[in-house]
Amino acid sequence: MNPAYAITTEKLKSIRHVVLDLDGTVYSGSKLFSTTIPFLRQLAAADIGYTFLTNNSSVSTADYIAKLHKMGIDITEEQIRTSTHSVISYLGTQHPGIRKIFVFGTDSFRNELENAGFVITFGEPDAVIAGFNTELEYRQLCKAAYWIRRGKPWFTSHPDLECPTDAPVVLVDCGAVTECLRTVTGRRPDKVLGKPSREMLEPIIERHGLRRDEILMVGDRLNTDMQLARNAGTAAVMIAAAPEDIAGDDTIICAVRDLGELGKLFRPRNQGNYGFTEYSSENTPGQKTAEPDGSPAGCEM
Ligand SMILES: [Mg+2]
Repeated sequence: MNPAYAITTEKLKSIRHVVLDLDGTVYSGSKLFSTTIPFLRQLAAADIGYTFLTNNSSVSTADYIAKLHKMGIDITEEQIRTSTHSVISYLGTQHPGIRKIFVFGTDSFRNELENAGFVITFGEPDAVIAGFNTELEYRQLCKAAYWIRRGKPWFTSHPDLECPTDAPVVLVDCGAVTECLRTVTGRRPDKVLGKPSREMLEPIIERHGLRRDEILMVGDRLNTDMQLARNAGTAAVMIAAAPEDIAGDDTIICAVRDLGELGKLFRPRNQGNYGFTEYSSENTPGQKTAEPDGSPAGCEM
């Protein structure tokens, strides 16, 4: 066995919960990757939990559940965490005095904040909250800038400058509009939630009572997904078109082309216990030998 490959599988043995980025990891836009469902089945068979994570605050939790259901993936509300959830939990724990908010975002974003108990106002707020606003309205942008300039605390749902798309447009995301507001007001947000802020992972760790070495972050971006794992002190696997170009370190234990390659590092343990362990072609029928020559590229190599 390739020694680096053995180190990778050894590090995956303790994993009890996998956190998966959505776009670029589970699917691309509206197209589900063929490796996703088999990988999720592997996790379920091994009694390893999973949660999906996204920075997109323009659509609601229900929209995501419906989208995944349409793709053949049924999840509970607890199995998806968006940057909107992160805004809600962060304000609830760190700024419980903030109740009345001016929201720069979509109707879905506004509704989720309202359902969480915040009072939405166009008048004087306790704070300004900005999300990925695909329904951007100039009057709303100007009013957000006004309250920020007046010194109201302000928070944004995530730092992404653009949202990935195959369409012939650039989807201007929350981070880019944050820059616009920062430039015109001279004030940075008091806090940027979403990936890579550790607030995205902490509630998952707490809810499932996990140790740091029992949670694995899987995603396709260095500056959000991998950095989140680094900030939260968990391990990560990177999905990359050229995994051999990704250098492994204490956080990124492995880079693979897709979830199918990650699945090859994983099989049920013997004696009734299940989990990540060394892959063996002998007792995993139907799967291709992955090592030594076919080891998922980039795995500590
Ligand atoms: Mg992604």
